[in-house]
Amino acid sequence: MSSLPKLPRSASVRRGLHRHALAVVALLGSVVPSPAAAQSAVRPLVLRAARVLDGTGKVLTNQDVVVERGRIVVVRPARGPLPAGGIDLGARTLLPGFIDTHVHLGWYINGHDRMHTDDDGDTPAVSALAHAGNAWATLRAGFTTVQSIGEADNAALRDAIARGWIPGPRVLTSLGSLNERTRGGSPDSLRAVVRRFKQQGADVIKIFASKSIRDGGEATMSPEQLQAACGEATAQGLRSVVHAHSADAAQRAANAGCTQVEHGVFADNATRTALVQHRTFFDPQCGLVFRNYLDNKRWFEGIGNYNAVGFASMEQALPLAEAGIGLAARTPGLKLVFGTDAVAGAHGRNAEELVCRVRRGKQDPMDAIVSATSRAAESLRLEKEIGRVAAGFAADLIATDGDPSQEIQASQRVSFVMRLGTVYRNDGANATAARRAAGASRQ
Ligand SMILES: [Zn+2]
Repeated sequence: MSSLPKLPRSASVRRGLHRHALAVVALLGSVVPSPAAAQSAVRPLVLRAARVLDGTGKVLTNQDVVVERGRIVVVRPARGPLPAGGIDLGARTLLPGFIDTHVHLGWYINGHDRMHTDDDGDTPAVSALAHAGNAWATLRAGFTTVQSIGEADNAALRDAIARGWIPGPRVLTSLGSLNERTRGGSPDSLRAVVRRFKQQGADVIKIFASKSIRDGGEATMSPEQLQAACGEATAQGLRSVVHAHSADAAQRAANAGCTQVEHGVFADNATRTALVQHRTFFDPQCGLVFRNYLDNKRWFEGIGNYNAVGFASMEQALPLAEAGIGLAARTPGLKLVFGTDAVAGAHGRNAEELVCRVRRGKQDPMDAIVSATSRAAESLRLEKEIGRVAAGFAADLIATDGDPSQEIQASQRVSFVMRLGTVYRNDGANATAARRAAGASRQ
């Protein structure tokens, strides 16, 4: 949902985010080995798990996953005593770190319990800490890679995480977006904008080809404009991710050779056929983004198109969105990927969308997991780097209490997080048992 031109960029931090920021400091001070130390550690680390989901749909039991210099070097049946320094994950399920192909790490709730906007008085320092808090919340929830369809200052966040200054997921970002009016909207000027983003270090190009769902979602970009923008992205070696709600807008994006279509609430059979035909990745949302707005109206009400009409549009879209997940999941050959569109207030809750996709959208749980691991990696053109538990892949690994391929809610019970061989979270056996008991009593 995303289309709030020049809304969130910085600001003040609500209490929850304060906690995250403090946790970041505490973490850097104590628990987490510095990335430099992790990289220089040559000794292999063995993770032992009763159950491994490899990210492609396969299930392995009683495995040792050997990690060295940030990468998985061997996956083999567990045998003998665990080597010194190894981590026994016990009954937990080990799987690749989750990948969210659509978040907005720059969006946050400010100290006045409102969505941050450029004119709310937050200083850049406050905003930067809020962004760091979002990144840490996301990593803690087991998401080790995200695509932040964001603003120019996402570059600073991406680079700070990559340098090991702060904990967070690997970030790919568009640094901004373009629409039918950008620089006058002629095909030539749209191509120039794409080249400028590339020059500024964008990892992906974000294009708005329809109105917001709160404004009806009709197509806004002509086929010629989409061909120019997505064609130039391809020529520059970049992927193009297109916001498109109406069937018409989504089909135009597929026909123009764009890489991925977002949202597609009004997608019909012809849309799904076009997506299959053009091998376009499709990322519709089931519930988190809508629920976050509808359950927390006070954070958003009165800002931009967050008004009674806008909220009613989202309410009406909910059943359509849930049904759309099932229709997409049952379309043979359709490359359904996982992306939450996590905005202010939703960071760290990303797995709620997995639960919605399975429980309300009726997507098969293993398919949902694949869509958030190896298939999401493919959509980012990182299929040789992340998204699988296999030799040669980055050691981005998480463990859950319970098996999410059997009970998808287990994806919300992440108790171990490793990224590039560094452990950022390991709640330990006692905490795990306590949490399981608490979870059982809630049900
Ligand atoms: Zn968005």
